[in-house]
Amino acid sequence: MHSIAGYPDITNSMTFADLGLSPELLKAVDDAGYTEPTAIQAKAIPTVLMMRDLIGIAQTGTGKTASFVLPMIDVMAAGRRRALMPRSLILEPTRELAAQVAENFEKYGKNHDLKMALLIGGVQMGDQLKTLNEGVDVLIATPGRLMDLFERGKILLNGCELLVIDEADRMLDMGFIPDIEFICSKLPESRQTMLFSATMPPPIEKLAKKFLSNPTRIEVSRAASTNKDITAFKVPVKTRQKRETLRWLLQHDQVDTAIIFANRKTTVRELNKSLQRHGFASGEIHGDMDQNSRLKELDRFKSGEVNILVASDVAARGLDIKGVSHVFNFDTPWHPDDYVHRIGRTGRAGAKGRAFTFVADEDAEAIANVEKLTGSAIKVFGKEDVRVELAEAEAKPEKSRDKKPRAEKPRDEEPREEKPKKPRREQRARDESSDEKPRKGRSRRKDQQDDEPVPAGEWNGPRPGFLDFGAG
Ligand code: ADP
Ligand code: MG
Repeated sequence: MHSIAGYPDITNSMTFADLGLSPELLKAVDDAGYTEPTAIQAKAIPTVLMMRDLIGIAQTGTGKTASFVLPMIDVMAAGRRRALMPRSLILEPTRELAAQVAENFEKYGKNHDLKMALLIGGVQMGDQLKTLNEGVDVLIATPGRLMDLFERGKILLNGCELLVIDEADRMLDMGFIPDIEFICSKLPESRQTMLFSATMPPPIEKLAKKFLSNPTRIEVSRAASTNKDITAFKVPVKTRQKRETLRWLLQHDQVDTAIIFANRKTTVRELNKSLQRHGFASGEIHGDMDQNSRLKELDRFKSGEVNILVASDVAARGLDIKGVSHVFNFDTPWHPDDYVHRIGRTGRAGAKGRAFTFVADEDAEAIANVEKLTGSAIKVFGKEDVRVELAEAEAKPEKSRDKKPRAEKPRDEEPREEKPKKPRREQRARDESSDEKPRKGRSRRKDQQDDEPVPAGEWNGPRPGFLDFGAG
């Protein structure tokens, strides 16, 4: 179960039952294992149930999906389906996100008689059309596929009383705003509209002004701020040393599960190959892959078959991947908003995480933009920050060892790299067990690090040159 201790206090005394949801829904939430609403859920759910328009701004990983899916299920419970006229519409920027929201509907809506259709590119349209013909309560779609169908007259939007524009800032990055404006103009004016975003850049404010009426604005933390459960570093590095540095960190920073972001698809592919050559259990996800292979790759990561996923921004957007211990920015993202989204893959729902951003000469401008957006300088990674196991590490019990290690040692190619003597992965994913003792080992080590720098000699691996940048 997640701890949500990290969230703003509003959630402390709240339960889902306090929010006005129906008993059937509360049961489904309970079965899903959620005990307390997150801050955005606590604030948004009552507003949606009152049928008000809503702008919800909260960083990635704060549970925005359930903040609209849950109340929508109760709102949609009354009313009748009609052929070709969905009663509500949820717009998502990517197929993966759309599929995730659909999963959420299935999970929470299991005690309700609601029909849902998923309209995304890359899959056969036949079944989607058949479902639409029979009438749906909830249509979850990416803008492209929806426009396509609408223009061919296969779908009518004038029966749609409720609209959700999710991940609005990503919609903007992906160039979907004109499509969304078009779609909005085809919906009845007397509808309820909700917009969710991690950040609110000006074009999104404009969109909200145009298509929402007198919305309640809910903001759970400063826009573009990053999560305090995430420890972020920048790593000054030469371009041609990025791979080596990455491998070193993967081996020495107690990496359990990691997503590595790169700016270009070719980098994603090549980096994944290189990691695999070095014996890491890694996979890749990028925009050139078809829907099936992306989902397959994601499944391999979720199931633990691989513990490293190399990703491009678009493909990874908002993916619900739990318990990622590390995010690496192999390149500093060109769009500073992407930085917030990327590192939001870790530190989710109260768990701690670490984020490393590689900064080579060509990343200088991008990192300056990131720091401007987040309003603070990112700490430079130094040798006191390395999370290498101490030589006399206290015997770590828990379930750590009964899992097969997923990242293996690189093969011999690099003479400088020696095996650290201690196992480096005793920290288990936070989300996968119900009886976890949350982060005991981790916080203890952190205290040590904060108080007393780890003397160089305490680990057997080499200290790579890049660490000298940050030392002292
Ligand atoms: P966002 O859309 O804000 O990025 P998601 O809706 O994808 O976030 O949720 C992030 C993660 O938090 C998911 O793994 C989800 O299952 C989990 N989560 C959502 N609500 C709760 C809750 N009330 N308690 C515990 N975990 C939650
Ligand atoms: Mg989301």
